[in-house]
Amino acid sequence: MSQLTELLHRNREFAAAVDPARLAMSSREQLPERILVVLTCLDPRVEPAGFLGLRTGEAGVLRNAGGRVDDRVAEDIAYLAARFGLRIDVAVVHHTQCGTGMLSEPAFRHDFADRTGLSDRELAARAVTDPTETVRMDVAKLLGHPLLSADGLGSVSGHVLRLETGLVETVVNAADPARSAI
Ligand SMILES: [Zn+2]
Repeated sequence: MSQLTELLHRNREFAAAVDPARLAMSSREQLPERILVVLTCLDPRVEPAGFLGLRTGEAGVLRNAGGRVDDRVAEDIAYLAARFGLRIDVAVVHHTQCGTGMLSEPAFRHDFADRTGLSDRELAARAVTDPTETVRMDVAKLLGHPLLSADGLGSVSGHVLRLETGLVETVVNAADPARSAI
């Protein structure tokens, strides 16, 4: 049985147990004023349903290599805020042992940049070797992003998931952009 066959089997169990009301599109009146988006790494060990116990309908999840803030992430958050007229609280979660750390090794990075045509400098900036440092940088980047300077962005917080223990450590407490600008 392939891995996908097993996952589709689990889907049948999910469909049999789920309350369809949880999956229905909420009307504007039913929506909360704010919703949470978790931005984190695509590493299979870094699964928000696992380490945060996220359940269906509780939060949006954005994932990319490293859980890094880039223009695409900002666009998605801006869209979500505009589409539903909500404020979006964002929790940025980086982690220890991140595979993007390889991008800090020049030989690997140069070779990858040559093969893909991507910018060596931009690839170097994507490496998460010190998650405490990169999560601080990315919270600041979101708070200052031009697409999110309007009223769509709620609070932004920064966290590190330590894979050695499974614990999440808060590095930057939730701050609203309006407050941080004062
Ligand atoms: Zn990672």
